[in-house]
Amino acid sequence: KKKIAVMTSGGDSPGMNAVVRAVVRYAIHRGCDAFAIYEGYEGLVQGGDMIRQMQWGDVRGWLAEGGTLIGTARCMAFRERAGRLRAAKNLIAAGIDSLIVCGGDGSLTGADLFRSEWPSLVQELEDTQAITKETADLYRHLTIVGLVGSIDNDMSSTDVTIGAFSSLHRICESVDSISSTAISHSRAFVVEVMGRHCGWLAVLAALATGADFVFIPEKPAEVGKWQDEMCNALQTFRRLGKRKSIIIVAEGAIDSELKPISAEDIKNLLVDRLHLDTRVTTLGHVQRGGVPCAYDRMLATLQGVDAVDAALASTPETPSPMIAINGNKINRKPLMEAVKLTHQVAEAIEAKKFAHAMELRDPEFAD
Ligand code: ATP
Repeated sequence: KKKIAVMTSGGDSPGMNAVVRAVVRYAIHRGCDAFAIYEGYEGLVQGGDMIRQMQWGDVRGWLAEGGTLIGTARCMAFRERAGRLRAAKNLIAAGIDSLIVCGGDGSLTGADLFRSEWPSLVQELEDTQAITKETADLYRHLTIVGLVGSIDNDMSSTDVTIGAFSSLHRICESVDSISSTAISHSRAFVVEVMGRHCGWLAVLAALATGADFVFIPEKPAEVGKWQDEMCNALQTFRRLGKRKSIIIVAEGAIDSELKPISAEDIKNLLVDRLHLDTRVTTLGHVQRGGVPCAYDRMLATLQGVDAVDAALASTPETPSPMIAINGNKINRKPLMEAVKLTHQVAEAIEAKKFAHAMELRDPEFAD
């Protein structure tokens, strides 16, 4: 009987519980034993009751729960080989040889490193007589499958990450609420949303709320121009009878001299130049919390099911897969290629090579 464990790691995102539910139930359906690792890699390193067998009923009602009920943590110990050695010992003690990790690029990098190191970890456990040769022979290979949970939608090789649409939905609800006050008082609001390297949330929120202006990391606002452009646009809309002005700014927004553009800078400009009664709202962690939207429940379930199938189909020769979605189809991509590409995009954005970043993200739409 195959024993498959699921864990959530890195920042929480809506839909992670739906992932755990899908993996547990589909693994049981496929005749496997299902386990959950509590508290991310911390639970893997600690072992004991952090690794628990899960029954069908244990995940009842989890589809619509926000955050992650099995917990997540940032774990320094897992970054060291000694921590990963303890993690290997704990997994083998529980009889587990397949690990499905739902997290961001850091978590998935850790997972793939764990797999590549696994044979030497098992050998070390055998050499130090922490496990017998017979046990070691049963666990020479570790199966890793990655699922991407992130609100930023910043992973390459997949169209959408689990949690991104819930976050977008929450931002839209928040901007709608702000709009009531904005219209009543004829005010302007500068709304800061998450996204250090990726303007996806900001752009789509601007589209979905009919915002007046948007600032994102990938398209620096031109120094000496953006101020006029924004003020002219807002004035035009006001002349046409609009009583509210909404500006969405991603936390990583910059200008063409590569200086950060803050919500406060924008507010000061609107007050000084247009004499608009302007407020700043930083949405913060509100964007990450709450129930997953229908799309994330669906995506988490379909990808969770495919992760179990991928674990059952995995061989020592095939690279670790990451479950993606491309053009509405659930897909498997080589995990480390996706992670590598994601890092390259972030590096290009940090080095302000935006055209290159766009090309890496999607050569078809680079222009
Ligand atoms: P988010 O996108 O929300 O930040 P993430 O998965 O990228 O999610 P990280 O904090 O980077 O979040 O990683 C989560 C955990 O994964 C770390 O605390 C660490 O235990 C493990 N991890 C990350 N990178 C590595 C690595 N290179 N080697 C081993 N473990 C790692």
